[in-house]
Amino acid sequence: MTHPAHLRAFLAAIEGIDCTQENHTLSVKSKDYFWYSPLLQQSLGDKLGEVWVKPRDQDEVIRVAAAACQHQINLTVRGGGTGNYGQCVPLEGGVILDITGLNRVLSIRPGQVRCEAGVLMMDLERAVRADPCVSGGQELLMYPSTRDIATIGGFVGGGYGGAGSIRNGILKDPGNVTRIKVVTLEAQPRVIELTDADIQKVHHAFGTNGIMTELTLSLKPAVDWVHHIALFDGYPQALQLCVAATDAISRTVSIGGNPRPNEQLMDAFLITAVERRFSPFYEKEFGARFPAHRDAVFSMIHPDYLERWRAMVVQHGGQETMAMTEQALTDAGLPPAFECGWNHTTLMALRLDRSWTNLQTIHAWPLDIAQITQQMQRWGDEVLMHHEFARDHNGPVVFGLPLVAYFDKDRLYEIIGEFEADGCAVLDNHVYTIEGGGMKTIDSAQIEFKKIADPHGLMNPGKTEGWQPGMAVPFTA
Ligand SMILES: Cc1cc2nc3c(=O)[nH]c(=O)nc-3n(C[C@H](O)[C@H](O)[C@H](O)COP(=O)(O)OP(=O)(O)OC[C@H]3O[C@@H](n4cnc5c(N)ncnc54)[C@H](O)[C@@H]3O)c2cc1C
Repeated sequence: MTHPAHLRAFLAAIEGIDCTQENHTLSVKSKDYFWYSPLLQQSLGDKLGEVWVKPRDQDEVIRVAAAACQHQINLTVRGGGTGNYGQCVPLEGGVILDITGLNRVLSIRPGQVRCEAGVLMMDLERAVRADPCVSGGQELLMYPSTRDIATIGGFVGGGYGGAGSIRNGILKDPGNVTRIKVVTLEAQPRVIELTDADIQKVHHAFGTNGIMTELTLSLKPAVDWVHHIALFDGYPQALQLCVAATDAISRTVSIGGNPRPNEQLMDAFLITAVERRFSPFYEKEFGARFPAHRDAVFSMIHPDYLERWRAMVVQHGGQETMAMTEQALTDAGLPPAFECGWNHTTLMALRLDRSWTNLQTIHAWPLDIAQITQQMQRWGDEVLMHHEFARDHNGPVVFGLPLVAYFDKDRLYEIIGEFEADGCAVLDNHVYTIEGGGMKTIDSAQIEFKKIADPHGLMNPGKTEGWQPGMAVPFTA
């Protein structure tokens, strides 16, 4: 915990910037969605920041960074706070820097948007769709299923991909994010600009190596996607449709490119398979559109390909129960299809029953559907299946986001071991370090950049295993 005198000096140095030490705010702003995991709930539930600060622009961010450095106070950046591994939980107290005051869209050009890091992705999407620089507007290449409440800085700092990844790859793929401005945590903070491959130095670094203030992202012409539900008599058939769709989309749209005119096979923004045992969690919203005796594919289909999609659904023995634009869904009080996929599937379940948790797995391509059938038989009602179809620059990727009936830690890790024995990679979402989760190994380029951007090791210490206390440069005032 910070020495009270240091905290007082810090507060004096940031005078005029919105901040509070009020208990309720600190408690709320010290949490994210780590409660998805009973294990993280145990290890992170009592973590608390000591002061919440909300700068309005980059100059105020620089003042906060300078003051935190001068008074050697830990600092954790927070966007929408929707990470589910405790990414923005302050592990050792200090400042919670709420970046949502930096919420301006700075410029929109054909193929590109420049914005501040704290803008909500929903606001960004609305802005690029409305801007007339491209007739019909433009759209973001991808967003998490938390689009409406998450920031773009938080997505790049803690996210991976999401809706749009079947069409445009993941955040990491070249050209998707093209430029980032980062404020360093030094007595005299600098603003460093990272471009192209250097962006990886801060992508998925959980806010440990600099404060992103501004980003430039690529855009594509806007599409009024059709949010679609197709139902099947068995989960394998639902998966077969998703595999066929992924294959067709791969041949139609290249990552970083526009649809190829000669091979217009299928174009979609989301392909999600959810098995029938999830249907009780969707009943309130979707009722007969997703009944308990059928498995579902939620998708977002390019309107020009809708008839072809319908034919594919029928070929795979499916039946359409919904085909609506996002506006029509909003008017009908229904959630968009992307809120029925990715990590929202677990949220749908947890809203009704907190005894569930989830896992994040990756399946090899070509997808072994028979293996998934065996896994369903093996685990019975202990594990419910949900798969996301995406692509990265190497080709198709199938993520599993299965729901797991939580018993205890030993059983959870037994199930993880069984997935691994089947050849599935498991991105452990029950640990809070970068390396313990998806990354598995220390990213030395990120640690080298931390030596530059956070030389005293003040940015959320404990989040990266690659940073050793001995690496911190001692501070001399
Ligand atoms: C229901 C649900 C669904 C989700 N779906 C997806 C999904 O589809 N795809 C996906 O990738 N993730 C998903 N997530 C995880 C998370 O919602 C996203 O990654 C989201 O983009 C995080 O944005 P945020 O603004 O909430 O970031 P936060 O949670 O506030 O921050 C995330 C990390 O980034 C750091 N950070 C934030 N802003 C900055 C900044 N300006 N500079 C430096 N570091 C910063 C924080 O310190 C933290 O480590 C989901 C989570 C939930 C709970």
